Amino acid sequence: MTPSSLPHRYAVIGNPVEHSRSPFIHHAFAQQTGKVLVYDRLLAPIDGFVRAVDEFFAQGGDGLNVTVPFKEQACALAKDHLSPRAQLAGAANTLWMQQGQLHGCNTDGVGLLGDLQTLGFPPRDRNVLLIGAGGAAKGVIFPLLDAGCAQLRVINRSPERAHQLRDHVLSQARQFRNILQAGSLDEAQGPWDIVINATSSSLGDTPPALPQGIYAPDALAYDMMYAAQPTPFMRQAASEGASQTADGLGMLVGQAAASFMIWHGVMPDVQVVLNAVRRQLAQG
Ligand code: NDP
Repeated sequence: MTPSSLPHRYAVIGNPVEHSRSPFIHHAFAQQTGKVLVYDRLLAPIDGFVRAVDEFFAQGGDGLNVTVPFKEQACALAKDHLSPRAQLAGAANTLWMQQGQLHGCNTDGVGLLGDLQTLGFPPRDRNVLLIGAGGAAKGVIFPLLDAGCAQLRVINRSPERAHQLRDHVLSQARQFRNILQAGSLDEAQGPWDIVINATSSSLGDTPPALPQGIYAPDALAYDMMYAAQPTPFMRQAASEGASQTADGLGMLVGQAAASFMIWHGVMPDVQVVLNAVRRQLAQG
């Protein structure tokens, strides 16, 4: 086999990474679109991200998805060739090599907005509460504002991080100063039409500590986490009166599809693959 006839190589890099669904999703997209590729999981040491990325591309790798906790480092690494989305987020989840230069983008926002649209909750003219101020919140805050929400409040367990995120956004986009607020979890008073949990609290099997009565009638509660069963946040929201709840599997498949589009120039069918991942998740 000549090097040019070898399949293109991709991977998701993170720590931990063993539970990532990305290999399944990208192989499903490849089958759907007739692409030939190999997509692996790449566990990078916590202090060894840059070296792992260098080695991957030096060995002929074509593209990387980046997950926890490396998205900010990925952004710094591709700083000379970042998409506006990655630049605004300060975090990158998609890397690729073009003419010997490392490029980066952030597709989390596209994934979330696509899923909200599918669920019948486009953010335009809606009041949105975003819980969390980590990498995931950073990736979606600009796209949510850009989509025209009426109000967006970002709240966080450590409120100073929510305020820092607001300051970061306003330093680049002053026009959102009357729309974007920041605060602590106690400052969640609404009512909100869309409440998005971008914290990792569900990993600890507990919902974030939120006050009661935050949901508007017909509100959506969206957890970026996903699981075979409704997450603790989704259960909390249902008991608090949210009329609809959703987990983040649709966002995951949507952001993967946007990465696939960047790498291969073809947009796969998200819904077909989402149904397949949902079935796989249910089977354990
Ligand atoms: P980070 O580690 O960067 O941030 C974690 C955030 O969660 C911080 O805001 C932290 O608050 C908060 N937090 C953690 N534990 C609790 C708790 N018990 N109560 C309240 N807040 C808490 O993680 P990411 O932002 O990268 O990821 C967040 C979640 O989003 C993860 O579960 C991840 O799997 C998911 N995700 C899903 C995606 C998808 O496609 N569906 C894409 C990206 C992420 P503090 O600052 O106070 O520590």
